[in-house]
Amino acid sequence: MRRKLAAGNWKMNGTAAALAEIEALIAAHPAPAADILVCPPATLIHRAAKLAGGSAVAIGGQDCHAEASGAHTGDISAEMLRDAGASHVILGHSERRADHGERDEDVRAKARRAMESGLIAVICVGESLAEREAANTLDIIGGQLSGSVPDMATGENLVIAYEPIWAIGTGRVPTTDQIGEVHGFIRARLERRFGAGVGRSVRLLYGGSVKPGNAAGIFAVPDVDGALVGGASLKAEDFSPIIAALEAA
Ligand code: PEP
Repeated sequence: MRRKLAAGNWKMNGTAAALAEIEALIAAHPAPAADILVCPPATLIHRAAKLAGGSAVAIGGQDCHAEASGAHTGDISAEMLRDAGASHVILGHSERRADHGERDEDVRAKARRAMESGLIAVICVGESLAEREAANTLDIIGGQLSGSVPDMATGENLVIAYEPIWAIGTGRVPTTDQIGEVHGFIRARLERRFGAGVGRSVRLLYGGSVKPGNAAGIFAVPDVDGALVGGASLKAEDFSPIIAALEAA
């Protein structure tokens, strides 16, 4: 049985005042039937983790470096995230792949480091609109999976987020059939590479314009074990009904 996961990616949003949203989530979900994760900007991780300590809300980072320490100005290591109180880290988000030129091999090296440091890596994969329109979606996802996921992955240290780039922040959402096709493909690929035990235990999240109004339909799709939520995770009043829909799924 895979436990469901509702993950929020705050991206480059939020100052100290936003910690009140985490407080509200903690109050609204004291004993949830799904895991809850909030990934605030790095500046808030330590304060968020202190606030959420002992609650059902876990705190994660949005990226980490592949090295433990060194001359990498502006970067954060997996060890530093752990030290600040994070339990998860998002890796290979399409915005990092686009803005920072991250390739699959970079994501894989970061994920290895994150797992070695005791973090759960939430590795993002997803096709562009042009790739979908050219009927290349499964090839792209297959390549990203084999390139980005390290051999040491298990159901405990890996979560995969399928995030079609054209659905992120756009209000456009794939059909449930399209989501189901990609999630089924990812599941089959993981089972083929890691064996049925590990392959079936990795949680698969859908991400891209998940809102309170469409969450239940998405969560009813087979092999959707939760969501990675951007915009709608910034306010507890939006994220909370998404969590509730996941708990009810
Ligand atoms: C994201 O960036 O991970 C995301 C899914 O964003 P949004 O929910 O805003 O589309």
